[in-house]
Amino acid sequence: MKESLSTMVKLPIYMDNHATTPVDPRVLDAMLPFFKETFGNASSRNHVFGWRAEEAVERSREAIGRLIGASGKEILFTSGATESDNLAIKGVAEFYREKGNHLITGKIEHKAVLDSMKRLERQGCEVSYLPVGTDGRIDPEDLKKAIGPKTILVSIMLANNEIGTIQPVEEIGRICRERGVLFHCDAVQGVGKVPFDVEKANVDLASLTAHKIYGPKGVGALYVRRKPRVRLAEQIDGGGHERGMRSGTLNVPGIVGFARACEIAEAEMAAEGARLTAMRERMRKKITEGLDLVTLNGSLTHRLPGNLNLSFSYVEGEALMMAIKDVAVSSGSACTSASLEPSYVLRACGVPEDLAHSSIRFGLGRFNTDEEADYVADLVVAKARKLREMSPLYEMAKEGMDLHKVAWGQAH
Ligand code: PLP
Repeated sequence: MKESLSTMVKLPIYMDNHATTPVDPRVLDAMLPFFKETFGNASSRNHVFGWRAEEAVERSREAIGRLIGASGKEILFTSGATESDNLAIKGVAEFYREKGNHLITGKIEHKAVLDSMKRLERQGCEVSYLPVGTDGRIDPEDLKKAIGPKTILVSIMLANNEIGTIQPVEEIGRICRERGVLFHCDAVQGVGKVPFDVEKANVDLASLTAHKIYGPKGVGALYVRRKPRVRLAEQIDGGGHERGMRSGTLNVPGIVGFARACEIAEAEMAAEGARLTAMRERMRKKITEGLDLVTLNGSLTHRLPGNLNLSFSYVEGEALMMAIKDVAVSSGSACTSASLEPSYVLRACGVPEDLAHSSIRFGLGRFNTDEEADYVADLVVAKARKLREMSPLYEMAKEGMDLHKVAWGQAH
């Protein structure tokens, strides 16, 4: 099978677009002059090299802001979303300490959010972690109940990096605004893929990163609302760049590339979303028709177009990944897959440990083709069947035995 189909596709195939995306050639073209002739420091006020760099940065702020319904003045550049999440959460907690010390987040947030929260807990803050349903969504009623007089910040992501679930951010924003609490949204995985507007969703702070939308790695932004004004305590001391909120010489080529990536995303989001949704559904259909006992993790309706996260009962995710080693995918989160802990995201959605261990995340992106999707789906079906042939548990399950009721002998 591999020989016949692989003549139509080029191996290896990249299907891990939630971990990172390749730089779009149009983005690279926009960046190149800023490594060469226009290399100035955007803070150099005394010559044309600096002015040109500054001009490019200011134009970029506008383009990035436009994608999320913000003004360029509300965009603050960082090294990526990990830094943006840290700055938003720690910066708000420090600045508004007199007002309160309670923060709210969700159980399936990215580690950059969860670990920032944990550090604040060690420093005396109180943090509530909202549960999610089996589809990975927060119940806005749970949020309403969790907000108290000392709550200063709610941090909930737009879309999850493992299961692609999109949160009800407009409802969350409405509740936060009504209760006078700031709303930070880690919008990394959703921006440029699904509509997101900071005005419609009443978002006060939003983390963005270029490398998930076909821009370069190592550049991101934090949206910080100006009306009503949101304040932050800076977390990096230095030359007072970015209105004193984030010191450090700006990564001008990266920023220009980030802006170009946003312009392309804005223009192509609708068509690309439709194409990737169709591709994902085609893959899901092919795989579930070819194999029994496959479950979709996350929500079918509130889902990123390019995310397909499946659990294959009686197949180890790691073994399946090895078996399809010419295809780049993830088992669990890219950021935690170095450890063999079952994904905390899947566990929070109520996925049993064995099924969490059997999950694979396919992340489809701009440069994937239908031929690749077909090739990967057929390969997964063939390899999962093979692995199951070696599993006595699968044979027993197929014969109708309820494995949860089997009295397993104790090894002595
Ligand atoms: N937040 C989410 C939801 C992510 O998926 C990621 C990337 O893995 C990050 C934050 C961190 O972004 P960066 O790689 O730009 O630091």
